[in-house]
Amino acid sequence: MTGDCSVLERGGVESLGIGMDLLTPKIADITADGVSLSGDLTAEELGLTDTDVSIRGTLSVGLDLRSVERTICLTGVVEGTAVHQCVRCLKDFESPIAFSVRAAYERETKAAAPVAKQDAGWKKKTAPAVEPKLEEPDDDLYYYTGDQLDLAPMLREQLILASPMHPLCVEECLGLCAQCGKNLNEGPCHCAAEPTGSPFQVLRGMKEKLQEPAGQ
Ligand SMILES: [Zn+2]
Ligand SMILES: [Zn+2]
Repeated sequence: MTGDCSVLERGGVESLGIGMDLLTPKIADITADGVSLSGDLTAEELGLTDTDVSIRGTLSVGLDLRSVERTICLTGVVEGTAVHQCVRCLKDFESPIAFSVRAAYERETKAAAPVAKQDAGWKKKTAPAVEPKLEEPDDDLYYYTGDQLDLAPMLREQLILASPMHPLCVEECLGLCAQCGKNLNEGPCHCAAEPTGSPFQVLRGMKEKLQEPAGQ
């Protein structure tokens, strides 16, 4: 049965994580009292590529893990600096990363593969008569096998979810001139004043010539 991770509160957990690997804590070391893990991780250790999220330096990660019935509940905080490319001016800029994570880990059994949740046969075998849906906490549910957790995929996913879809260096970024490519945040280019060769300018010129004699 799914343990209820929503009762968890951060803090008050003794740091027993000495010698434990931050990304692959051993299941046996995660007790009902909980353990705290913290440390710095590089993008490489997380398996992050620059196409996912570009990280400057290392990420500071602090995690609390606690065993609640047969579920391992995880809460934590991730902090660091991301480098994004502005979608308008294409300039790289840094922005702070700071978000909290909540996740629940359950042992993956043969009968309960990740997709088996929808399976009626699986429900009959292991789920109690009461539908757990109402009480289900909104922690993201992950599965583990073996005798340790692998936290990298979860952290990777959270980092990607936390990064902006359309990063802007500043909200009012002026972008690049479509004609000369100048970064308009650094000042105006001459294209706006004299749109040479634009069909509108040619038309405007013709119109002005036609209007001139009439106006005099
Ligand atoms: Zn920009
Ligand atoms: Zn220009």
